[in-house]
Amino acid sequence: MVDFSAVGRRLLQAPGASLLLGGLERLGTWPPGRLCTLTYHRVTEMSDDGRHPGLISATPVEFEQHLDVLEERYNIVSLDMVLAARAGRGALPPNAVLLTFDDAVDDFVDHTLPTLLDRAVPAVLFVPTGFVDRDDAWFWWDAVHAAVMKTERSSLPGEPIGSLPLLNDGERSAAFGELRNYFKQIPWSRTIAEVSELTTALGVVPPPADVMGWADVRKAAEAGIAVCPHTRTHPHLDQLGIDEVRGEIAGSLDDLREHLGTVPSAFAYPSGQWTPDVRAVVDELGFELAFTTRRAAHDLGSADPLLIGRFNVSRRTGMNALRLQMLPWSDRLQRSDHRVHAVEGARGSLMP
Ligand SMILES: [Zn+2]
Repeated sequence: MVDFSAVGRRLLQAPGASLLLGGLERLGTWPPGRLCTLTYHRVTEMSDDGRHPGLISATPVEFEQHLDVLEERYNIVSLDMVLAARAGRGALPPNAVLLTFDDAVDDFVDHTLPTLLDRAVPAVLFVPTGFVDRDDAWFWWDAVHAAVMKTERSSLPGEPIGSLPLLNDGERSAAFGELRNYFKQIPWSRTIAEVSELTTALGVVPPPADVMGWADVRKAAEAGIAVCPHTRTHPHLDQLGIDEVRGEIAGSLDDLREHLGTVPSAFAYPSGQWTPDVRAVVDELGFELAFTTRRAAHDLGSADPLLIGRFNVSRRTGMNALRLQMLPWSDRLQRSDHRVHAVEGARGSLMP
């Protein structure tokens, strides 16, 4: 797996890096049927509202710049084209890239949708349906981030990970990282209650999730966005009983069908977390494609369609690093890692 160090990131932002990448892209042959999928979360301006800034994939201006590069160098395909290619009813164009947006936060309607429509660019939106039209709901990662960054206390309470110091931004970021790792591995049944206790102890009200309402979800679907399920409550599926897993996935599919009618046959595992049993439920429910968060491109002809990897887009990574990861040469590095995941399931990424 390629790891992009700070030095590497600086090199990729240097003048001339884009030209060099262009040369590499022309040299590397993109095998027919190969698909790269990108994961975006939020497209919005940076703010100090306490939400986890790592979830801002791009500012609106940066997103336009991403699309400039993607439209010039790749073929942005629709989910319909991918489903058709998978079913043998058509072929993907060379350099096929699929754009996906997770969590259906309000800024999709404010910034992303108008830009996509303006350019006639297709995209997929994964919706955690239990959050739609709910003013009182929050995402646990934003709640933890806001609590740690905004609290007036100078240390964490003793529970759950010990009283780490919070005297400066560096200590607060480190404490957030520790808490995020902790909350990702405890049983899901405890996560929301423990996050609530932490935010109360730190005296911070969690920022609302700001997921779109049904009117906007419908507007996106009517505009041609492929709107697909992402569970109801965005749980860690690898830590739920199988009946709860089925309820979460089938429930979000039912919610979308009730409000939108037809729903495309694709699903995204929250935080990329799956096990062979979770995958089996996705299969049993009839999904043709399911997306993880593992960094990988795929040959659609031979890939497991229910474990399609994606490249996460973040402001920290930047478009040049993404282009480097998408080069066909990087497939060999990703392949060895795939066997382990296929056997054990995946703990997922630190992104939701
Ligand atoms: Zn998500």
